[in-house]
Amino acid sequence: MEIRLTPEEQTFRAQVRDWLHNNLPTEERPTDWRGWREFDLAWQKTQYDGGWAGIAWPKEYGGRGLTLLEQVIWFEECARVKAPHRGVTSVGINHGGPTLITRGTEEQKQFHLPKILRGDVVWCQGFSEPNAGSDLAGLTTRAEIDGDHLVVNGSKIWTSYAHMADYQELLVRTDPNAPKHKGITWVICHMDYPGIEVRPIMTMVDPEDFHFCQVFYNDVRIPIANVVGEINDGWNVANATLGFERGTGFISDQVYFAQLVEDMIEMVRDPARQAYRTADETADILGRLAVSRSEMAAIRAMTYATVSRAAKGVPGLEGSMIRLYFSEAQQKALRLAMDILGPVGLERGNMHSWTRHYLRAFASTIAAGSSDVQRNIIGERILGLPKGPKAA
Ligand SMILES: Cc1cc2nc3c(=O)[nH]c(=O)nc-3n(C[C@H](O)[C@H](O)[C@H](O)COP(=O)(O)OP(=O)(O)OC[C@H]3O[C@@H](n4cnc5c(N)ncnc54)[C@H](O)[C@@H]3O)c2cc1C
Repeated sequence: MEIRLTPEEQTFRAQVRDWLHNNLPTEERPTDWRGWREFDLAWQKTQYDGGWAGIAWPKEYGGRGLTLLEQVIWFEECARVKAPHRGVTSVGINHGGPTLITRGTEEQKQFHLPKILRGDVVWCQGFSEPNAGSDLAGLTTRAEIDGDHLVVNGSKIWTSYAHMADYQELLVRTDPNAPKHKGITWVICHMDYPGIEVRPIMTMVDPEDFHFCQVFYNDVRIPIANVVGEINDGWNVANATLGFERGTGFISDQVYFAQLVEDMIEMVRDPARQAYRTADETADILGRLAVSRSEMAAIRAMTYATVSRAAKGVPGLEGSMIRLYFSEAQQKALRLAMDILGPVGLERGNMHSWTRHYLRAFASTIAAGSSDVQRNIIGERILGLPKGPKAA
């Protein structure tokens, strides 16, 4: 597949390149979470001030009103110069904001969207629960209506950035007697509401690098005006959110990862790393590298095809295909990066950035729906295959 840009798109790319050249942050992203939040919000504000935030968002909410293809060009140029990537603004930008654009009230859009784009706020996602991950519709966090408020009790888990967030996309059960997909509501929760407790969860990457939390809700009162869509229609709204998350939310990761594979090729050329390898091992690495590079090219072609089909609106189910292919190709490539890196990759104290990428990638076949769940979606909802037998 040949990807040919129009003269206008080429001019756009040149403008992006020029702006990034003059505005890229020079310092590293801090590792402590307060510094991390401040850094990501400042970078978001710089993009906003330069007119590069929300490239495909409508103009009336502070975006540029351009196409998804121009958004992809932006990501490609950011990846080329290693601009800060996948930070604390990702939930708001990638699926919180887009959900409000398609399903929110005018008041919700006017209030929240400019704040997200300007880098004033951080959003997190409160969907998963200790007993409701893949089976998201089985969630039990309860919300009872009391006058013009919902009163929420329960717990969410694996909430990325909850300890840094101002707002949350929260799914609650408002009708426990309805069929499980029917009694759910999608509501905007301010993380400062009384009764919310956030506890961090450490990961294997390293003790400082926690981005996960468990969130507890104890009689948390949320105005009904914060409901997005209708009460008890949250499953439909959540599907829009997941459509954005799985469909367009990972485009920047795909583009950035293709650049990482190019960096791996440079790493192989480093004579210091060649010293400990036999000729057979080198041949094996080169073969695997060729496969990884062609997989990245396939992902790029799939991404461009999706983007030109999706135009505007909620992305279709094919996001699950790219998500599945990408996350598995990414894990394979990062295992290869560890083989190229050699013994240095085993150091824990001063962990190498490739080791960090490698350890983080274990999560990529789980986050936003596991590979098994993506395969179910592809089989049942795209290919129309019959559902498998229910687990006992
Ligand atoms: C890095 C990362 C970030 C995350 N961030 C967030 C966040 O910000 N907010 C949030 O709400 N959640 C978040 N999650 C949670 C994520 O959505 C869930 O982990 C995911 O949906 C899987 O749910 P689970 O962990 O409960 O596993 P389970 O659903 O218990 O699955 C366990 C295993 O069973 C398999 N399985 C389950 N059901 C089926 C089935 N029907 N058919 C075949 N196999 C099946 C799964 O594939 C998996 O291998 C995050 C997860 C990760 C890893």
